[in-house]
Amino acid sequence: MKTILSIDPLKNELKKLREQNRSIGFVPTMGFLHEGHLSLVRESKKENDRTVVSIFVNPAQFAPHEDFDSYPRDMKKDSEMLEEMGVDILFCPAAAEIYPGGYATYVEVEKLGNVLCGKSRENHFRGVTTVVLKLFNIVGPTRAYFGRKDAQQAIIIKKMVTDLNLDVVIRTAPIARDVDGLALSSRNVYLSAEERKAALQMPAALQRAKAKIDEGFRDALAVKKMIREELKKNPSIEIDYVEVASLDRLEDAVVINPGNTLVAAAIRVGKTRLIDNFILGEI
Ligand code: AMP
Repeated sequence: MKTILSIDPLKNELKKLREQNRSIGFVPTMGFLHEGHLSLVRESKKENDRTVVSIFVNPAQFAPHEDFDSYPRDMKKDSEMLEEMGVDILFCPAAAEIYPGGYATYVEVEKLGNVLCGKSRENHFRGVTTVVLKLFNIVGPTRAYFGRKDAQQAIIIKKMVTDLNLDVVIRTAPIARDVDGLALSSRNVYLSAEERKAALQMPAALQRAKAKIDEGFRDALAVKKMIREELKKNPSIEIDYVEVASLDRLEDAVVINPGNTLVAAAIRVGKTRLIDNFILGEI
């Protein structure tokens, strides 16, 4: 595995690959890797001649009061994991090269970025789409891989790719969970044992809702209420949102369409914000 720390050497390396007609799979991450990230790497390796992974904790997607400074980082361990997976190139740019002084250009997907997580995280998706577009321009991938854990993010990136005629295929992978059901997240390290126990209420509530829908239940408001009530049973959970929305437009659903629905929740447990969801349909 080649580890490359700046843009020009990476571009040179990738230019060579493109000249040899090699397909390039790309997995953008913020590091502190877990099985969720590795599942994306595995998919990429299956479908492409070469796999590039980036690790970049993107300041543009964190609000000033959020956890940019304390976001967990372990480059040595990440690098070992990726080497073991057989990744070809690890790209770890410095923030000063991605956003040099006077940086002024942002890309924003309207509407989709202002609902769900976008409501409580102002400018978050603008930061995500900006860095992902920059990384796509730098890497020039054939295919790029995103987790459905961040379903809204995947939906927004797909929309950006369509709207801006980008020449990359977006693939998504299912949510990887720990044995106890909690969706894997780099932020799970923030949780104390007690908090983790509380957090498990979220996958449990979503699973119950999913079972109800699988039985034929179609009332979106009642499903939201049911999930909220499950979450409220644990006083250490602060609900950010529980939403039932159409998958394609992320608009509030009234009747659940079993082929086009996202059921998503975000909670705070102590200082940690956690998200989870299930999807009826495909992204
Ligand atoms: P992050 O490092 O959190 O920015 O995530 C990088 C990529 O990994 C994103 O496409 C995420 O959606 C994906 N990812 C994170 N956690 C999971 C998970 N538990 N299951 C599947 N994909 C995940």
